[in-house]
Amino acid sequence: METIQEHLCKCINCDTLFMDENPQIGAELYPLYQDDNGLWRTKYDIESPYTIHTVYADTPVLEGEIFEDGEESFFGCDQCKTDEYLIDL
Ligand SMILES: [Zn+2]
Repeated sequence: METIQEHLCKCINCDTLFMDENPQIGAELYPLYQDDNGLWRTKYDIESPYTIHTVYADTPVLEGEIFEDGEESFFGCDQCKTDEYLIDL
């Protein structure tokens, strides 16, 4: 089973986890594994100081989306179409 280490963030509007394309310096890395359908999932429970709730093992982790906003581009939640609700784990 392949394991990778990724920075994670969570959209607190729709409760989706993403691989963080724009992590803080020194942000925690979390191990992910790929399930039989090729979807990345958390390997262990995560209790981050930034999350209100525990993120449990086997939670799917998506890749998020880069949005263009005029000259600017930003990384955000593909469902909510914003980065407003993203918090780092
Ligand atoms: Zn969202």
